Amino acid sequence: MKNEQTTPSSTAYVHPRNQTDMMGASMMPVYQTSAFSHSTAAELEQIFKNQKPGYAYSRVGNPTVNAFENQMARLEGGLSATACASGSAAIACCFLTLLKSGDSIVAPAGLYGGTLSWLKELEAFGITTRLVEDFSADNVAAAIDATTRFVFTEIISNPKLEVVDVAALAETAHNADIPLIVDATAVTPSLMRPIAFGADIVIHSSSKYINGNGTAISGVIVDGGRFPWRKSGKFDEVLPCKRFGPAAFTAKLRNSTWQNIGACLAPVHAWLNLSGLETLPLRMKQICSNAKALAAFLETSEAVQAVNYPGLKSSPWHSRTAQFAGGQAGGILTIRVGSKARAFDLIDHLKLALNLPNIGDTKTLVLHPASTIFIHSDVATQEAAGVFEDTVRVSVGLEEADDIIADFKQALDTLK
Ligand SMILES: *Cc1c(COP(=O)(O)O)cnc(C)c1O
Repeated sequence: MKNEQTTPSSTAYVHPRNQTDMMGASMMPVYQTSAFSHSTAAELEQIFKNQKPGYAYSRVGNPTVNAFENQMARLEGGLSATACASGSAAIACCFLTLLKSGDSIVAPAGLYGGTLSWLKELEAFGITTRLVEDFSADNVAAAIDATTRFVFTEIISNPKLEVVDVAALAETAHNADIPLIVDATAVTPSLMRPIAFGADIVIHSSSKYINGNGTAISGVIVDGGRFPWRKSGKFDEVLPCKRFGPAAFTAKLRNSTWQNIGACLAPVHAWLNLSGLETLPLRMKQICSNAKALAAFLETSEAVQAVNYPGLKSSPWHSRTAQFAGGQAGGILTIRVGSKARAFDLIDHLKLALNLPNIGDTKTLVLHPASTIFIHSDVATQEAAGVFEDTVRVSVGLEEADDIIADFKQALDTLK
């Protein structure tokens, strides 16, 4: 399925529809304040009762944060968005809004390490997860049982780089009367709008491509607003289904879980994201094209044993990149170089690429996942997530493709 028509235009990225009086400012200002005063007690009461729009306390609402939320909802084609202090907080708030003891989740084995660790932690609260190795619609259908409350997946998993079929998974989840929740961090609305493919809730670690410059940690939850919570019959105990219908998830999220956990986004961080968002389509284009060029070069290098990039024909998930605008396959790739020592040597010899645990920066980044973000996972968990002792993850940046390739070439040459 082609998705060209459904990704937002560059114009939409640079012209948000701001609802606050900005005094003519071309960019949403930072409302760096904890609380908002009102001239009468009655007015503040109305705001607390949700009977009048307005701001009271920045954990619950702030104009700069709202501008980011509104822009994300619009770019994803969702009903509403809720910004969080981090991608991890977004995942936690989303899950806690929907789950109770005795429930279960179906998710892929190859997830972001922090999410795998969170799923393990939920076991103490009586919530279990069935991890599926090959996340095909058939395997997911087989893993769903009467206790399953949602299917959760990354669209391009980090760092396994498994690409899932969003439309097929949405259909599978909906056949079981449960929603599909996707972590679209590695994809962004510039490659795909998952809601148009049937996903019900979209989560981003906006610390990555959305911020774009690696300047602030943040996350966001976008509610598609289409899942029939009431009709499903599986959420009556946890959501205000009768009162809010399709908006029941956001109603509980914003009025309870997210507000009570307090993992709100700082106004300055929302502003950094608003600023980053404006150039997202331009950056993703360059990043994806650089990643493709680097992957093609690495495939020809004798010092590299294996290249994993969904944009390569050799990837088992290559055909699923057709879901993405222009068939773009994202900015992350992994390589295997034979041993941990060689992986460390490669990283130590790179001059341009920075060795740090992040993705989605303007700069090319590398990391040895087994000794860093997966250091606390056992070998079976690591390998199910596509992490081996000789794996190096690369998050490709905005440099000239030739410069990135030259950097890897000189570093790989030292391994011979
Ligand atoms: C980074 C990341 C997260 C966690 O986000 P933080 O902002 O670091 O809390 C979740 N999912 C994916 C796919 C990520 O890459």
